[in-house]
Amino acid sequence: PVPPPADYLARLNPEQRAAVETIDGPLLVLAGAGTGKTRVLTTRFAHILLTRRAFPNQVLAVTFTNKAAREMRERVSAIIGQPAEGLWLGTFHALCARMLRRHAEHAGLSANFTILDTDDQLRLLKQVMEAERIDTKRWAPPGMMGVIQHWKDRGLTPARITLAEDSDYANGKARLLYTLYQERLRTLNAADFGDLLLHVTEILRTNPDILADYHRRFRYILVDEYQDTNLIQYLWLRLLAQGHRNICCVGDDDQSIYSWRGAEVENILRFEKDFEGARIIRLEANYRSTAPILAAASGLIAHNEGRLGKTLRPGRTDAQKGEKVSIVELWDSDEEARMVGGKIEELRREGHSLAEIAVLVRAGFQTRAFEERLITLAVPYRVVGGLRFYERAEIRDAIAYMRATVQPADDLAFERIVNVPRRGVGDAALRTMHEAARSQSIPLSVAAGRLVEAGGLKGKVKEAVGTLLRQMAQWRDLLGKDGHVVTVAAMLDESGYTEMWKQDKSPEAPGRLENLKELLRALADFETLAGFLDHVALVTENEEQPDDAKVSLMTLHGAKGLEFDTVFLPGWEEGVFPNQRAMDENGNKGLEEERRLAYVGLTRARRRAIVSHAANRRIYANWQPSIPSRFLEEIPAEHVQQANSSSMARDRRVAAATSFPTQFPLQARRPRVIEVWEQPGRPARTDSIPVGARVFHQKFGYGTVKAVDDDKLDVHFETAGDKRVLDRFVERA
Ligand code: ATP
Ligand code: MG
Repeated sequence: PVPPPADYLARLNPEQRAAVETIDGPLLVLAGAGTGKTRVLTTRFAHILLTRRAFPNQVLAVTFTNKAAREMRERVSAIIGQPAEGLWLGTFHALCARMLRRHAEHAGLSANFTILDTDDQLRLLKQVMEAERIDTKRWAPPGMMGVIQHWKDRGLTPARITLAEDSDYANGKARLLYTLYQERLRTLNAADFGDLLLHVTEILRTNPDILADYHRRFRYILVDEYQDTNLIQYLWLRLLAQGHRNICCVGDDDQSIYSWRGAEVENILRFEKDFEGARIIRLEANYRSTAPILAAASGLIAHNEGRLGKTLRPGRTDAQKGEKVSIVELWDSDEEARMVGGKIEELRREGHSLAEIAVLVRAGFQTRAFEERLITLAVPYRVVGGLRFYERAEIRDAIAYMRATVQPADDLAFERIVNVPRRGVGDAALRTMHEAARSQSIPLSVAAGRLVEAGGLKGKVKEAVGTLLRQMAQWRDLLGKDGHVVTVAAMLDESGYTEMWKQDKSPEAPGRLENLKELLRALADFETLAGFLDHVALVTENEEQPDDAKVSLMTLHGAKGLEFDTVFLPGWEEGVFPNQRAMDENGNKGLEEERRLAYVGLTRARRRAIVSHAANRRIYANWQPSIPSRFLEEIPAEHVQQANSSSMARDRRVAAATSFPTQFPLQARRPRVIEVWEQPGRPARTDSIPVGARVFHQKFGYGTVKAVDDDKLDVHFETAGDKRVLDRFVERA
């Protein structure tokens, strides 16, 4: 049954209602966070359907994430009272993939083309570069890929690249390489991610009949998160909207946070120019957050210049009752993770749903500390829009290096790293090694060693495998001498693994490098490499829980458009947030984008925002003092309550009396030259712990021993559940 129209319109304030009912002509809704932009868009969709202005498949709706698309589909079907099917609703990429399948032949593809992932793309590009005799050491394929992606973001096919847009990458051969790469993709009947938009836009540009067909079809176009569209997305929208000109975009210039991926806030200004007579509606009441949170966020973003200017006032009826934003100062990163974990437990005990709690970090690597804490506390969590720390490719590679080095029989690990970074060890060489290993019943790495000696591997491959095996032997030596942190740092360094990511110019590469640094910090928490590897094995076995019973961990970028009752915002320290690289590379523009990110973070919270910063962070095995983020001071003091952890106050006095240990700037250091501070190795146990004994473990708390296997114990922990641990890490309780 279709609900009476008055019902759904009554849930809107007058401005929102105007935005829903201004159906014809171009419309831009420009409004701050939580003012109901997404709600307007969803209601508008329903309104179009309920007033029978269009059939469901005549509306094109663009969301920023698949999750947002799902939500919009649900909301639309709730309002129209039946499942919403056949909708053109999704992300730019999803919608373009669907269009491209329909017209693939116009892009020289057939309808069943494959969409390549990043690895495939790079492999292909590298082949193209090698065939052109480009020195891929000097001009790394990922760098070239960055150039190509940039062109694609700007809607430039090879033929459309003008002199001004050309790049001098690869000695002026960039455009040629791009042309050849596109040709290769075509022969393979494949498209990369950027092609989805590029091809479709090009088809629409050059085939008036196809474009006319879409003009007839799409009577209404709806776009969420408009401030983060890039040029090609804008061109695509503009082409499609030329027909009925019924395009409604909603956005907030203060939440523009994807310029690093080619997004252009200028699209907001272009809109008014390109769509003559466009109406602009502003929404001013924020229904999401309590007054103090809103005032804090508004005060912060006011430090940005060059804003379009918007007013934001509390719209929640209970807005005035809210708590101030908490700023918690912690002694170090461990204490920060404990604070967040502790407060989450407290909220859980008070009956709050875990699904209403989020921890939002600036960079992906930062989730690790919180993941480990939540595992210890047996609090279910999920990492939204990303993998859990120990499942990330670069972390698994690094761990494979460790395993292959200390466990020479670990064939899987050896196979994973033997050609990463690329050493020219191809499938044929690997097959030879496997055959030798099988026929002599020896581990792969041992077989590889014998083949190198006996001449079973030749030339470049022989040299590369020989070098790797020699290095592994050196690392084993180093492990005994200098300890595991230094050794792993050497592994990543000497193997060329870190360098591989440094050469990589894709937007993910810096995050991967940060994850690797974080891994070294994690290692320093353990006394031995074996202890660490066991720990990793334990934390990666994860049991599935429904998403609605989990805390969400994600980056600030991933949190756009979402909301939670409680939001933790850890790591507000100079260099971390605002992020140093963003400021180094883009100066004040970079800083302003960081500030917008902070604004996005604070405005995700409905009731509670807990910002924290630690006075000390670990760099490798050393501690380094850190400076509180400038953003903390930019939040108006009257909306803030300061809290220090108890040890903070105590340790501050200690810190004042003693000077900090050696300080190093983050980059200027090679692990070899640091004095590594390690706890004296915990000795193996002399006594044995029997089954049934009650024990205490630093991470998992109290538990009872269920089984003993050599130096490992299976323990049932009271809060953390069943875990296998090393006996020397527990005390008898
Ligand atoms: P963002 O900028 O973060 O994407 P937004 O402008 O899209 O935010 P919404 O997510 O649509 O805002 O709305 C924020 C919250 O306010 C939601 O929980 C929504 O249900 C609620 N809301 C929106 N409009 C109203 C209203 N008129 N009355 C009550 N609640 C509202
Ligand atoms: Mg929204």
